[in-house]
Amino acid sequence: MVHRDATLVSMEGLSCPACGEEELLSGVPHADIIEVSCEPCGQKWHRDPHALPNCDRCDGNDMEGAVKAVVEKSRGSQLSIVATQVVYLCRDCDETILASYRIGRSPLMPAELPTT
Ligand SMILES: [Zn+2]
Ligand SMILES: [Zn+2]
Repeated sequence: MVHRDATLVSMEGLSCPACGEEELLSGVPHADIIEVSCEPCGQKWHRDPHALPNCDRCDGNDMEGAVKAVVEKSRGSQLSIVATQVVYLCRDCDETILASYRIGRSPLMPAELPTT
């Protein structure tokens, strides 16, 4: 048996950026941050409990996590997703992006795709 030193994370408004799960999240504290993992889909991300990012455009703090794809150009012109990262979007400034993200929950594509 592996003992997992996980504590249940109950942070207001915390939900899995990948699938939207709000209940089955566990967190393991590391120094200043908490590594949160989602039981249903396996997404892991870090959360700094002391510093939720503020929006760099409107300076609001009504942020929502989303999964963004990290793409690399592979042979030919095919782009492949090599990793995902969790980013925070502003519910005001990024409202349209978030609205479509919530429907499909497929990773957001970067605004700038690699060209070389
Ligand atoms: Zn999830
Ligand atoms: Zn904003």
